[in-house]
Amino acid sequence: MSQQLIDSFGRQIKYVRLAVTDRCNLRCQYCMPAHGIEIAPRADLLTFKEMYRIVRVLTELGVTKVRLTGGEPFVRKDFIKFLEMLSFNDLLETINITTNGAMIAKHIPVLEQMEKVQNINLSIDSLQKEKFFQITRRDVFPEVYETFELLEQSSLNLKLNVVVQAGFNTDEIVDFIALTKEKNVAVRFIEEMPFNGKGQRDIQENWNYTKILEEIQTQFQVKQMVSEKSSTSRNFSIGGHQGSVGIIPAFTRTICNDCNRIRVTPTGTFKNCLFDDGVFNLRDFLRAGASNEELKELFLSLVKDKPANGFVAEANRKQGNVSESMSTIGG
Ligand code: SF4
Repeated sequence: MSQQLIDSFGRQIKYVRLAVTDRCNLRCQYCMPAHGIEIAPRADLLTFKEMYRIVRVLTELGVTKVRLTGGEPFVRKDFIKFLEMLSFNDLLETINITTNGAMIAKHIPVLEQMEKVQNINLSIDSLQKEKFFQITRRDVFPEVYETFELLEQSSLNLKLNVVVQAGFNTDEIVDFIALTKEKNVAVRFIEEMPFNGKGQRDIQENWNYTKILEEIQTQFQVKQMVSEKSSTSRNFSIGGHQGSVGIIPAFTRTICNDCNRIRVTPTGTFKNCLFDDGVFNLRDFLRAGASNEELKELFLSLVKDKPANGFVAEANRKQGNVSESMSTIGG
């Protein structure tokens, strides 16, 4: 039997989150300061060829799913060509994409033709134009809402990612859920995290999993759905609604026992956990001439050190508390 990526807790790694760029066309307050971040020099970004090799070797070790993130993946030139390239990997079952939706409307027909591109996660934190601008510091709500409608009507599976931000959009939780009545969309509420280029935001109210669920239950009777073992969200159905609702306890980290994912940042840093500060630079390893066999051995040994959970990962950080922008990690 071919080798598999299994960590010291018996969790098998089947999913890689690959950030194709740290560039983004938005400036979401929970991800980076209004003036942006210091982006990596272009030469420091992984090339598409390097990304293809990394994913290929991981799929030879049992990874079947890749999620492409950023920054904003569609900001990277020739991203569609990279999707076509990845689609040739016969061991890869699913290519998922997380996007802010401001630039993808014109690409939807091409994405629908790509068999392996199945799930699109659209990040949208407000249904109000002014509030959207306040959160993202960019006036592109109409484009993003149009993308939402086009994706909902497309053959692609659509999930909405809504970061619940105290003092910004907690009053819209019920509005987002109302969308699921007539639309077959999964709305997922994500706990805000300090990956914002500054560190923990001074928030009065902690909108964690429990508080978000309580808010939902003030208006809706929800029934817990059976989710995939390694699902990041706890999902609920509502009687008479086409779509579903989920909550991702990303900061309270109650999902770590079944974690099946690793991450690769835009500059090729390998992460065993979102909360670690990177364990190895794959880019330099590749550029130093490493073979695919050497890469395979490397992955097998790195995964052995995957921490039990995000709290252990955070405690073991060498570069201080979490504050780096999510745009440099890929979420
Ligand atoms: S916090 Fe780390 S271990 Fe927990 S689910 Fe996220 S990536 Fe996995």
